[in-house]
This record gives sequence, structure tokens and C-alpha cells, in this order.
Amino acid sequence: MTLSSIQARHYNTTEPIVVSFDDGVICDISPLESSSENLLVLAPGLVDLQVNGYGGQEFNDPELSTEKVLQICLAMDRDGVTEFCPTFTTQSFELLQHSMATVAQAIEEQADIADRCTVLHLEGPYISGEDGPRGAHPLEHVRPPCWDEYQKLQSAALGKIGILTLSPEFPDVGQFIKRVVDSGVVVSIGHTAASSDQIAAAIDAGATMSTHLGNGAHGTIRRHPNYIWDQIAADELTCSLIADGHHLPTAVIKSIIRAKSPERCVLVSDITGMGGMPPGKYTSTGIGDVEILENGRLVVPGQSQLLAGAALPIGTGIVTLLETAGLDLATAVHMASSGPAKLIKHELAPLEVDAPVDLVFFQIRNGKFEVHTTVNRGRIVYQSS
Ligand SMILES: [Zn+2]
Repeated sequence: MTLSSIQARHYNTTEPIVVSFDDGVICDISPLESSSENLLVLAPGLVDLQVNGYGGQEFNDPELSTEKVLQICLAMDRDGVTEFCPTFTTQSFELLQHSMATVAQAIEEQADIADRCTVLHLEGPYISGEDGPRGAHPLEHVRPPCWDEYQKLQSAALGKIGILTLSPEFPDVGQFIKRVVDSGVVVSIGHTAASSDQIAAAIDAGATMSTHLGNGAHGTIRRHPNYIWDQIAADELTCSLIADGHHLPTAVIKSIIRAKSPERCVLVSDITGMGGMPPGKYTSTGIGDVEILENGRLVVPGQSQLLAGAALPIGTGIVTLLETAGLDLATAVHMASSGPAKLIKHELAPLEVDAPVDLVFFQIRNGKFEVHTTVNRGRIVYQSS
């Protein structure tokens, strides 16, 4: 039997607390009488709705296996992520079917995987083919929505697709959106070149989210109207934002959060398989040749401007919100935990000894989000050395 305890300050109440563990399982939570200034922060486990892979491994992979899925899931522990959505971007039907079926089966078979992910995010293939909105999704696999294909993919995924990102720029897409929403799946607008009328029709049909608003967009658009203003103004839509310091300028993050309110904004990492990899040049199965710079920026090799995706964890976004967007700690944490959890109906257990509570103990030092301990379902799954 190993007893240990961690002193921390609650992210919301700011109360100092001591959490005790017996063999890695929470056995006591008590107020702390006296405390130092430099306590860790205790927050709910982070929830990331967009994870494409980690540690050199993409979910979209013809060679994906249960073992590889488990590796990605366990690697998320060190970033304080306790629940995430494996995300599948635009690909052939065969590859999507294989990748999603593999992950869905893995969730069914292994508790360690089911404890970390329950819902899949299908991002594409029903998106805009235009350069800019399409982002890095391969043009040859972009296609209009097809109910038959979607149903086949959902059945390969054992019904676990919980978020579908699509562009509403196709004819009759309203009917498709309504059927998807009626089946209990969140429809999110993303990678779109849609008109104002098409955005409005998508909302009427039941779309409730915007995927990484401000990214997956044209480099140059008409000042107004355009699909970014339309989505900012729509109270029906909760938007996800990539606040990794590279994907959106601070002014954009600040303005979107102020206009929509923090309640209608969540953070995502949109991390690729290059997440968790040290700086250097790589060839990725999913996105080809890439380079990770010293500051974590993931680019096309040999230059620093053209982004090739994201490689920084969701905790980095909390630091961005605190240090450059002027939000308080409770709000920033909410946008990376309880906010996204609500969208996928993931229940965060109360902070009690016998509850399956998800927690992260962290500190922010020199602008970095440093995870000290991650607790998944009341049990320590990661501790920094
Ligand atoms: Zn995207």
C-alpha cells in the first residue's frame, strides 16, 4: 500500500485542498488549513473534441490496430486529457470505415480505451473542395453528403460517431443535417465556403457547432457578409477554437470569445499524430512531410509560415486564454473541460472520494502548461517525474 497526497488550489473556488491517494486511488479530499502561494491548480480533467492522433500515430491509418489506439489513449494522460474524441478527417470510404471500426471495436474491448474516449468525431468528407476552406483535407476524397454512406460509416463505428463536421454548401443539405441531428449526433459547421443563407439553413436544420472557427477558411474573403461573421453572430452555434498560439491571432480569439461569450466557445487541440513529438522533420502517413519547430509550430518543412496542422496539446490553449486573451482561470479551464464535456454529454463526476472523478493537477510556468498528475475515474494514470 502506497499513500500519497497532493496539495492544490481549486480552479474555481480557489480554496486550497489536499487530495490523498491510497495505491493511486483517491481516498480523501480535505480542505487545507495553511498553504503556500505556489500551489498546483486542481481542475476537472481536460476534454478535447478533436484529436487526430498522437506520438507519431494517426487514427486514419490503414494499419491501425487496437494496440495503436491504446498507445494514443494512454499518451493523452500526460497532457491532462481524460476524455477526447478520436477524429477522422476526409479520406476514402474504405479507410474511414477501417479506422473508425478499429477504434469503435477497441472502445468495446478495452476498458483503458473506453475510460478515455467514448465518442468519435468525423470531420469530413462532406466539406468544401475550395482551396482554403478545405485546409489539408485531400481534394480527391472531398464529396457531397450522402446519407447511405454516412449510415455505413456510423454502423462501422458501432453508432459511436457523436460529432459530424460538414459544410452546408451543398444542395438539399438541410434534410441530411436534420436526419443526422435526429439520430442524436452533433452537426458542426466547418471547412466551409457556405453563403449566409446556407449557414442559416444549416442552423434551422439543427446544426449547433462550428469547428475550429477562423481556421479552414479562405485566406481572403469579402469583408461582409461572410461565413465567419454569420457563425459568430449565431447564438445557436458553440464554436471550437484552436488557441495554440499559431492558428489564430490573439485579437481574433479575444473578439470571438467576447462576441459569442465563453459559454458558447470551447477549446480543441486538433492535434495531429505529430503531437507529443520533439522538434524535427518527419514524414507522417496522414499529412506527408512536416517539420515541428522549437516553439511547437507544425509547418511544411523549410519555412515557418505555412501550417501543416497542430502539434500542441489543449492545455496550451488554456495558457493562451489566460496570458493573451485576458480570461480568468475558471473560465479558461471551463472552455477546455466542462464546456466541451457538455457538448458530447460526457458527465464530469463530482469531486468526491467514491466518484469516478477526472482531474488534472497542473501549473503554468514560463508560459507552459505543465501537468503534474492526471486522475481518470478516481485513479492516478499519470504523474510527472
Ligand atoms: Zn479541420
